[in-house]
Amino acid sequence: MTTKKQLAITLSKLKDFSNPKATLEQYTTDSNIAADILWNAHMLNDLTKVADLGAGTGVLGIGVLELEGKVIFVEKDEDAISVLKENLEGYSNYEIVEKDIGLFNKKINTVIMNPPFGVQNRKADKRFVEKAFEIAKTTYYIGKVESKTFIEAISKDHNKKITHYWEYEMPLKKTMQHHTKKVKKIMVGCWRIQC
Ligand code: SAH
Repeated sequence: MTTKKQLAITLSKLKDFSNPKATLEQYTTDSNIAADILWNAHMLNDLTKVADLGAGTGVLGIGVLELEGKVIFVEKDEDAISVLKENLEGYSNYEIVEKDIGLFNKKINTVIMNPPFGVQNRKADKRFVEKAFEIAKTTYYIGKVESKTFIEAISKDHNKKITHYWEYEMPLKKTMQHHTKKVKKIMVGCWRIQC
């Protein structure tokens, strides 16, 4: 078993998107933030059977594997999948599902996700949250702090309760054309939501 600090270091060494796509909002969760969220989830015994929806290069799900959980990675972009596969070398207890999350229907305990923020594609984050609510008892949703109203409303609509909330300052690397500053920081929240 690893420590939180070691987990952050391991996650920081993973390969990033080779050619991130703006339309899919491919941003990697910062390794320190991922380690903190996963550590909290681990302490709450949530990391048994986990799905990482919109897994990207696998930072969240691989953290779960490091903490000895089982993970299903769901991702529709083949370029992301090929980086994910490289990052997964040497790991076991996982499955990769190369599909749109809408086509994934397995029941699991926990969904951990940092889905598209819905900036480029406004309906995207709603679809992710509804899918998580459909398949999991517990959902960890990482999104912009401005998503608060949306998350509270959608949770209420589905009779779910927000049990925990954490806030972070997330560095976004300048990986895309439309980014101007080298490292831009945005405030993100992580909501833990249950039935
Ligand atoms: N979870 C990763 C990646 C976040 S970026 C991390 O935290 O680092 C969001 C990811 O969702 C991208 O890799 C994108 O390709 C994927 N994605 C977007 N829409 C999707 C959909 N409908 N089905 C499956 N994956 C999707």
